[in-house]
Amino acid sequence: MDIILSLFFLGLNGMYDKEIKMLEKLKESDEEIFNLVKKEMEKEQESINLIASENIASFGVRSAVGSIFVNRYAEGCVGNRFFGGCENIDRVEELAIKRAKKLFKCSYVNVQAYSGSCANLAVYFALLKPGDSVLGLSLNAGGHITHGSPYNISGELYNFIPYGLDEKTELIDYFELRRLAKEKKPKMIVAGASAYPRIIDFEKIYKIAREVGAYLMVDIAHIAGLICAGLYPSPFGFCDVVTATTNKTLRGPRSGLILCDDYEIAKKIDKALFPGLQGGPFIGTIAGVAVCFKEALTKEFREYQENIIKNSKRLAKELMDRGIKLISNGTDIHFSLIDLRKFKITGQEMQKRLESINIIVNKNTVLNDEERPSITSGIRVGTPLITTRGFKENDMEEIAKCIYMVLEDFEGNRERCLEIVKNLVLKYPILNF
Ligand code: PLP
Repeated sequence: MDIILSLFFLGLNGMYDKEIKMLEKLKESDEEIFNLVKKEMEKEQESINLIASENIASFGVRSAVGSIFVNRYAEGCVGNRFFGGCENIDRVEELAIKRAKKLFKCSYVNVQAYSGSCANLAVYFALLKPGDSVLGLSLNAGGHITHGSPYNISGELYNFIPYGLDEKTELIDYFELRRLAKEKKPKMIVAGASAYPRIIDFEKIYKIAREVGAYLMVDIAHIAGLICAGLYPSPFGFCDVVTATTNKTLRGPRSGLILCDDYEIAKKIDKALFPGLQGGPFIGTIAGVAVCFKEALTKEFREYQENIIKNSKRLAKELMDRGIKLISNGTDIHFSLIDLRKFKITGQEMQKRLESINIIVNKNTVLNDEERPSITSGIRVGTPLITTRGFKENDMEEIAKCIYMVLEDFEGNRERCLEIVKNLVLKYPILNF
């Protein structure tokens, strides 16, 4: 790194400025961790991060997470704790719940799940018995491991039956899903995905669930922010229960949510989460979630979500214009899924090559992938984080150009790509907000 760039990345231009004092204190207590935090800040500045599940939480969110509440224990729920002295904690959790109800327009919210995985497991534990049949989107169609992967406890405890995509359109095959539902008579259908770039028709799946007497759980981990902003159809009214994470498009801390409109289901879920699955909730995290919800209720947040989608659609167009195949030939949401098979390169290798030019992505399984999940034939490219930095639609052309140049002639184009990335990250420094 040249000296000017180093000084810039070291924070002389306002980067994470409010944190410098806190970091000085950390340096006194643990220099090794201090150095790693600083290195990570530099890495964030230097790279274009296209990981669809990552974002940059505000200083307010991060301050609340690391606040004095990390000292506390509060098993139970608001007004009914197993520990004394919880009056401030109750107010924090109450605020998070109140804001979530307003944001998602629903009646019951549990904000205590440690993560999206815990939220999903708690719903299964509340509504299913071991061995019950469940339909979930298969991993190579974009489903999440907690939707019944044999390597996950969900697949071990319950009889998950995968549904998938139509081979031609690469969209969810609702016809086949209905057929499977009628044949297998599942107790639950799980809708939602980690790597499905299109709008899911929750109403259609709900009708199928009702037809066969199954619960419908919708996992909106990825799209929660888009739903809050009204840019993706809300599942409420067309499902029994919703789970979410708070850290992806929603731009909060790493945490999970369970939401619903049914009092009986809500009661079961509260019990399944605590004492069923978890102990005391992370109060600092819940405070950060409350801050994130306050931000998500603003007009600026809606504009931010609009910009995420504009950037994502433009990136998809620029990639396709260069002959790069996207699953379903485009996107409706905050990421696209690139199918690399035509270029005879694996997702693992492409991820490595992009990282070497400071573009961060994740390898991802694609439909009918013959590679193992640790290798894959695809990569997922998302725009939530770079949109927080301020990247605009025109910048997507530059990013697509780099991805194409890496596919076309990696060694020959490496220096030019590094230059493009450097110019972009300098144009959009990460500033505290
Ligand atoms: N559900 C979906 C659809 C996800 O994409 C993810 C994470 O990426 C999860 C659940 C799990 O969330 P967590 O990593 O917070 O456990």
